[in-house]
Formats: sequence, structure tokens, C-alpha cells
Amino acid sequence: MAKKNIIDSCSFCGRAKTDVQLLIAGFNAHICESCIDQAHLILKEEQQGQKAMIDFTSEKLLKPIEVKAHLDEYVIGQEAAKRMLSVAVYNHYKRLTQPESKKFPDVEIEKSNMIVVGETGTGKTLLARTIARVLDVPFAIVDATVLTEAGYVGEDVESILSKLLQAADFDIKAAERGIIFIDELDKIARKSDNPSITRDVSGEGVQQALLKLLEGTIVNVPPQGGRKHPEQKMIQVDTKNILFIAGGAFDGIERKIGSRLKANMLGYGAKKESGKIDKKNLLQYITPGDLKAYGLIPEIVGRLPIVTYLNPLDGVALRRILSEPKNALIKQYAKLFDMDNIQLDFKDSAIDFVVEKALVSKIGARGLRSIMEAIMGDAMFEFPSKKDMKTLVVDRNYAEEKFVQNNLTDQKVA
Ligand code: ADP
Repeated sequence: MAKKNIIDSCSFCGRAKTDVQLLIAGFNAHICESCIDQAHLILKEEQQGQKAMIDFTSEKLLKPIEVKAHLDEYVIGQEAAKRMLSVAVYNHYKRLTQPESKKFPDVEIEKSNMIVVGETGTGKTLLARTIARVLDVPFAIVDATVLTEAGYVGEDVESILSKLLQAADFDIKAAERGIIFIDELDKIARKSDNPSITRDVSGEGVQQALLKLLEGTIVNVPPQGGRKHPEQKMIQVDTKNILFIAGGAFDGIERKIGSRLKANMLGYGAKKESGKIDKKNLLQYITPGDLKAYGLIPEIVGRLPIVTYLNPLDGVALRRILSEPKNALIKQYAKLFDMDNIQLDFKDSAIDFVVEKALVSKIGARGLRSIMEAIMGDAMFEFPSKKDMKTLVVDRNYAEEKFVQNNLTDQKVA
């Protein structure tokens, strides 16, 4: 009887073979899938002790100029944002490594969470992702629009941390020093500046829930992210040292900035130089106050104290994006063709065409990929089988022809 039990049940939790999905046999013992999961978590937790300090010693800390140099390799333009981000991450990781200071014993450096405001496709996500790569820390992107207050349909705010944990391969200590990019923060703004008139409960509720994470708290995180696995072991994550970067287009915020600037200009003590305002790009004057006016609650704005902006991408920037960054699109296609021993000669005239089409689509650099796919698709299909083909020349005529043939109208680029 005892022998039968050993064969038919997990030696760790005792569950019968019929109650588990998988039972792996070892020498005189069995283990089920749940116990493997648990054992894996325990192992990870143990290993963290040794790996905990991911070399954030001050000597190894990249200086702001070095951080920016890395960003320059991937992100075109956006100088102001790159400088601010470089300083913010430097200070953030300095804060984590701060030695006991005799000079400033009572001074505690606060977190440098950030908001990046800019039109779609101008590089918000790319910046955050590149920062995480440079620092070699776990990185997760979450979309604020899918978040809900606890108890509503959608994802709980805690799910943000599940994603970070997954990115950290469940190394809790690494996750606790990671970076979370919250996209579309503007979509959870309350719709009215005046909270007492139109209370947009859902947006404000999510902002309140987010606030806890930004402030720094210990959260019980379900490893799988959802509420579907009530039996799973919760993991405690401290958000105190996680860097949050929020992004959003904040459509229409220019109007708020504009009216504030106008009021300042008319106001008492207005400075002479306020007449030099660049009306074409008002985002550069953005302040935390404008974000409050847009509908972010003051507490959230207070917890994301560094505000920066991205410029809309003009033709010159789009041209550079196509060919300059380390993994520029044209370089990627050249590499693909090179694997078939075909040299890609992408002419300037074709680049002009792609840029013109991308500008019409008004989605920043986001449209470049689909335009390039339409142009290169046929060649990628046919050329690898053509034995005598050594070079592919793409000029404006070729690009235009393929663009039309593939029915990619200006509207469809998006
Ligand atoms: P968003 O601002 O909407 O977050 P993304 O960062 O996701 O935009 O950018 C969309 C695409 O455009 C990505 O493929 C990214 O590589 C490219 N891109 C956008 N802005 C830039 C930029 N300034 N430099 C280089 N590539 C960029």
C-alpha cells in the first residue's frame, strides 16, 4: 500500500497523480509541477543573496555624459530630454549607492521619477528602454490604459510589478532596482481641471493606486500577474528604489501651456524676454503645473518631479533615424540582404521618399517601419532565390512603385 502511494503521488506535497498535471519520477521519489515552481522560486530567492548588488558601486556608475553618449547611439535628437534623463538616472543610482555622509548626515536624496511628454512615435519608449539597457537593469513597459482600481475588470496596478519581476527573471533584488515605463499616463488624467465638477472616478482611482507604487511601498505581487491563480505564492516587492518613467502625448496640453505663458506675459513683473517664446513648440515650456491643469492629481505630479519633453520629429530627424542609430532600419535591411550575399544600395532619393510619406502619416518615426516593409517586401521574397543577384538598388522610382503596388496609401501607414 505504501509503495503505491509513493508511485502515485508527489513526494513533496503529497498530491495524487490524478490531481496534478505532471509527475516527474526520480530515484524513489516524485515531484509535481507546482512543487517544481515553488522549488524554483526558493532557489531564485537564495541565489539573490549573492547577486544582490548589481555593481552599483560609485566607481562603476556611469556619469551623465557617458549615459547620454550611450543614448546618442540609439536616439536621434531630443537633446533636452536626453540630458535630463541622464542626470536623473545618475542621481537615482547615486541615491541607491549613497555612502553614509558625514557632511550631510540628515540629507536624504529623493527619487528622480520622471514624466516624458511628447507626441506619439518621437522616442519616449525608446529612451526608457535604452536607459534600462545602458544600466543593465530589469525593464518593464506597462500601458496605463489597461490599469484599473482593484476590484474592477482590467489589470490591477500590482500587475506592473509582475511584469518587472518577469523581466528580472524573478530576481527580486534586481527587480527592486529596475525601471518601469508607464506609457499613456495622459489617458488616466481626469477630464476636468476642477475635481469637484466632473469627477472622472476611474482615471483618478488609478492615479491614486499608482501613487502608492511611486511613493515606495511593499507590494504583494502575484508572480503570474493575474487574479486567476489564487493559490500562487505572493512575492513581496519593495518599490522604494524602482525608477518610474511615465510617458504620454498629453494631446492639447500646448493650449494650457500657451494660456499660462500668455497670462505670465501680461502679469505683473513679466520679463522682457518672455516675448521670445517659440510658439511652434510650446512643449519645451512645460511645467508640473501644466500637468496638473491637464488632469493629473497633484500627488502624482509631486511623485514624478522631473518633467521633460520630446520634440516633434521633422524631416531631418526622420532621415537620420532611418540611417544613423546603431540599429537603424536601413542597417537592419542591409544586414538581412547581406546574409544572402546581396548588397543593398538604398539611395538618398529613396530615403527622401520614405521621409515624405512618414511626415504625412503624422505618427513620428512609427510609420517608417511599415513604409520600409512595403518597399522592401517583394525583394525580400524574391531575391534570396535569385542566384546571380549581387546588388539591390533602391531609388525613388523603385520605392514609389513598390509603395503603390503594395496599396500602402498615406492613411494606411499608421
Ligand atoms: P513613443 O514616443 O510613441 O513611445 P517609440 O519610442 O515607441 O515612440 O518610437 C517608435 C519607433 O520609432 C521605434 O521603433 C523607435 O525606434 C523609433 N524612434 C522614435 N523616435 C526616435 C528617435 N528620436 N530616434 C531614433 N528612433 C526613434
